[in-house]
Amino acid sequence: MQSIMTMGEILVEIMAERKGQSFRAPGPLAGPYASGAPAIFIDQVARLGHPAAIIGCVGDDDFGWLNIDRLRRDGVDTSAIAVCKGAVTGSAFVTYRDSGERDFIFNITNSASAQLQPEQVNQAVLKDCAHFHVMGSSLFSFRIIDAMKKAIEIVKAQGGTVSFDPNVRKEMLRIPEMREALAYILEFTDIFLPSGHEVTQLARSADEAGAIAEIFARGVREIVVKRGADGCSYFSADERIDLDALPVDVADPTGAGDCFGATFIACRRMGKTALQSLRYANAAGALAVASKGPMEGTSGFAGLDALLAQQPQHLR
Ligand code: ATP
Repeated sequence: MQSIMTMGEILVEIMAERKGQSFRAPGPLAGPYASGAPAIFIDQVARLGHPAAIIGCVGDDDFGWLNIDRLRRDGVDTSAIAVCKGAVTGSAFVTYRDSGERDFIFNITNSASAQLQPEQVNQAVLKDCAHFHVMGSSLFSFRIIDAMKKAIEIVKAQGGTVSFDPNVRKEMLRIPEMREALAYILEFTDIFLPSGHEVTQLARSADEAGAIAEIFARGVREIVVKRGADGCSYFSADERIDLDALPVDVADPTGAGDCFGATFIACRRMGKTALQSLRYANAAGALAVASKGPMEGTSGFAGLDALLAQQPQHLR
């Protein structure tokens, strides 16, 4: 089976142990955990037994090797991760408010992840890639955007497919070149995976149904909307499916969207129907939020089947 590939930030996450704890004072911390949206995504693909590879950069430091070791252990091909001398692996520090909302301090734009070069992307690196996934969070420099466009063009030219999770910070949408880049990526996208509030971000229409019609008109074939604790929805030209979220105790929401998207894509590539893929993706999102740590909630089919066997899943 040919692989699913992605490209982008690989970092560590360090979490405050207690709700309400701030970083203005010392306190108990958990981590470092392997992290980065594309890294979590690709780890989940590999956990499902699908060939998986990531293009990225880490520093030659413990944080970088922690990630490489973890991804390798879970079956990800890490040969396209460059270990950059003189650059430090990125990090994210997370605190949790009493409400459960998260605040992040990111050190990514000056990290090894920012050293990603368009030269790292070529036909040889992508030769086994049947599907390429783009994370909007990775598009934080124009050099990376160029690398991403190059990857998409190569994969499309060799007959592959593309998925896109916009996951873009709001302030980036105000930059005209960024909006252009996102529109460009959407033109090549086969499967679009926005969160609920992101559906209208790249469309003219202000309502979800109108935005979905517009996105289909641009050539996207499947749209999967992630709705957090409200579940998820699937749209194609002739089908709509809505699923409630599975009831789980939430330990840490980070990574749910990445595990969800990875599972949907891997299941579709393995020949599962849209409904089967959505059920598995919904279960993967639920298992991700039930585990503390961004990549600690990735799961194989055994874990997903066990959760689905316990929980009747409701079609709305
Ligand atoms: P992030 O960018 O933080 O990963 P996201 O917006 O991309 O988040 P979410 O919608 O938060 O993704 O989560 C993805 C999926 O995970 C949801 O569609 C749902 O299937 C599952 N999920 C998320 N939160 C919960 C929850 N509290 N309980 C059960 N399932 C959940």
